[in-house]
Amino acid sequence: MPDTILLPQSVSEILALFQQSGFSAYVVGGCVRDSLMGNAPADWDICTNALVHQTKQIFSNYPIIDTGIAHGTVTLMYQNTPFEITTFRTEGKYSDNRRPDCVCFCNDIVQDLSRRDFTINAMAYNPQQGLIDPFGGKTDLQTKTLRCVGNANQRFSEDALRILRGMRFLSRFGFSADTECQTALHECKYLLLKISPERIFSELCKMLQTDFLFSVFTEYSDVLFVCFPPLAPLNKFLQYNPYHDKDVWQHTIKAVCSAENDLTVRLALLFHDVGKPECISFSEGVAHFYKHANVGKQITDTLFRQYKTSNQLRENVCELIAYHSSEIPPVSSTVKRWLNKMGETQFFRLLQVKAADICAQCKSVSQRLQQVSELQILAQQILQEQSCFSLKDLALNGTDLLELGIPQGKAVGEMLNHLLDQVICETVENTKTALTKYVLSL
Ligand code: ATP
Ligand code: MG
Repeated sequence: MPDTILLPQSVSEILALFQQSGFSAYVVGGCVRDSLMGNAPADWDICTNALVHQTKQIFSNYPIIDTGIAHGTVTLMYQNTPFEITTFRTEGKYSDNRRPDCVCFCNDIVQDLSRRDFTINAMAYNPQQGLIDPFGGKTDLQTKTLRCVGNANQRFSEDALRILRGMRFLSRFGFSADTECQTALHECKYLLLKISPERIFSELCKMLQTDFLFSVFTEYSDVLFVCFPPLAPLNKFLQYNPYHDKDVWQHTIKAVCSAENDLTVRLALLFHDVGKPECISFSEGVAHFYKHANVGKQITDTLFRQYKTSNQLRENVCELIAYHSSEIPPVSSTVKRWLNKMGETQFFRLLQVKAADICAQCKSVSQRLQQVSELQILAQQILQEQSCFSLKDLALNGTDLLELGIPQGKAVGEMLNHLLDQVICETVENTKTALTKYVLSL
């Protein structure tokens, strides 16, 4: 692992400008971690002993936005790129498990690094002094270890969101937590009840888009159950059904991890079977879960409202859950109706949900996956041929129908839908002449 970090030209210039004005400045946090790992950082955060007004003076020729003045953070627009610049700081007591009661600016980079959550995030760098790594972050990167800066229990008690941040880093990098951190992740989980639903949900979304979810979801299920209580009953809920060799929670984890990295799809998979425990019934020793998709949709809708997600995300996820177990025969007219009902993006997501769900089952897996891929091919063909599957593709519109004497009002819509159905079934050609002739023949 290198000790030098190749900084973008603009970052070197910013650090040099601080230095020429008599201040120290470093790149810090995620960008140092990512660079050492050989990954391109998403952004470059800078920290300095300059106070905000001094930073503003140094960069008086550049736009600067007050991002969080109380915390000493401004955003500098430098060569059309935003850079967050934060004054070195220490944090006071945390009495609410969420945020410090006060912050104090200080002159010492090591003090600033010691307030940060994990050793891998508590490194700074500048070209003159090289890597500043007082807590062994680089070694932890090499040994793929997530370790808190200082006492893990205390750090999670200060700000419980760090628990989910920690799980996210484990899942993103495929690391393991050191024993102290691992124990504290479990022990401190109930403190997450004090964290706002929005922040919890935002961490879940980031976590779902990482590559090593399986082991984190398996090892830290109990933490997820605290954050998302409707998932808890899935744990060890046996399915007594020939299609399933796992309990509902194990099936859920496997399904989430079998899907492509698409947030909506993975969220839908995480909650797709939350309705099962409520819906179980038995016939001849086999369990059935009639209506579980609909019940799951209701539970998820309520949950997402509590978590204040966007309406769009909530509706998309709920739609996928509602239809995840619907039978869709691979027939062109059926696929056109589904495309019309859900739209193209959601329909392809539904196919991903179905495929991942099947992958996490144990009976006729390849045959059922084959059916899903037939549906996918059919849908792609329909789109490629620009076949008509929605009202906007219909060669006749409402105005045309009025001209043909259909009375204004409900009848127009009903007729349009009827015509669409005829076109989808291929009983009438989608041309103005054919449709007009058909309407006049009714
Ligand atoms: P990402 O690549 O996901 O942005 P990051 O490490 O840059 O990862 P940020 O949330 O952007 O994460 O935070 C930047 C830095 O601020 C972190 O690297 C860490 O040093 C510090 N940090 C952020 N949140 C916390 C927190 N809740 N407690 C302690 N330190 C934090
Ligand atoms: Mg960051």
